[in-house]
Amino acid sequence: MKYANSILDLVGNTPLVKLQHVTDGIAATVLVKVEYLNPGGSSKDRIAARIVDAAEREGLLKPGGTIVEPTSGNTGIGLALVAQQRGYRCVFVLPDKVGEDKRSVLTAYGAEIVVTPTAVAPESPESYYSVSDRLAREIPGAFKPNQYSNLNGPLSHYETTGPEIWRDTEGEITHFVAGVGTGGTISGTGRYLKEVSDGRVVVIGADPEGSVYSGGTGRPYLVEGVGEDFWPEAYDPSVVDEIVASSDAESFEYTRRLAREEGLLVGGSSGMAVASALKAARTLPAEAVMVILLPDGGRGYLGKVFNDRWMASHGFAAAGQGPTVEDVLL
Ligand code: PMP
Repeated sequence: MKYANSILDLVGNTPLVKLQHVTDGIAATVLVKVEYLNPGGSSKDRIAARIVDAAEREGLLKPGGTIVEPTSGNTGIGLALVAQQRGYRCVFVLPDKVGEDKRSVLTAYGAEIVVTPTAVAPESPESYYSVSDRLAREIPGAFKPNQYSNLNGPLSHYETTGPEIWRDTEGEITHFVAGVGTGGTISGTGRYLKEVSDGRVVVIGADPEGSVYSGGTGRPYLVEGVGEDFWPEAYDPSVVDEIVASSDAESFEYTRRLAREEGLLVGGSSGMAVASALKAARTLPAEAVMVILLPDGGRGYLGKVFNDRWMASHGFAAAGQGPTVEDVLL
């Protein structure tokens, strides 16, 4: 009989798929690594498993303990999934701008949530950061993973994502591209690929225009999960050869095109990674093999990038939109 003992055993080993259409005019082979096929729907399942394993080993998390983290997104889902399977309680602190659907995913897995006001300074006792610090201090047996400084994040990618890409490309990969949020994905995967290829693999970070990695100050952009206004410890700039920035408009255009032209329903940070990667791929020879990591799926963003009214209200063209029934009938 072929089965997994636990859903957690299915984290990782995501497939590579060749892009067929959005790569028109590009000679190189461009592959994407489809991380939404992880059980919790994103690359963050990888870091959650590694962070919890390490905390157990180091005695920071004991049976019956509680995981407390400020997170609204994929890291919360990954941690909730691991916590549920191992019998831990999870308390996530979310800013009030986080939508109902994202809250419901976390509570569906059994996590508890505490909602904090967005309109207060970070040092206010009511802020997202202050509340999570207080809960981590006051709840007995609490453990706070802190994904921005926890080096088990990059390590999980060094141990799994990197080796999978090297194995599946049979060592033919020449370029690796990933969006940078905490920096864990690019730092861990990039370090592995550099080491195993004797420095041959070129590592390219994709960044939303305005974020610190591409020289900005953290000016607000709409793509979620990538870009920062500070330099996290999980990011190792020494493995990144180049940073390529993309605007929200470019990122959302490619997010929509990936669904319509490639059948890949992915989030905005995946569109951002592809938009940036293709700028770099245009000048590459036919022998080059580029791998782009797509962190999560598009279902969490149906009301945003995939909603024409939302796109129009933020000044974006609904690119990739085909003719409507009305256009054809008129
Ligand atoms: N895309 C999405 C949707 C994410 O949630 C994250 C994680 N913040 C990233 C990209 C970036 O990954 P990393 O934190 O490893 O840099």
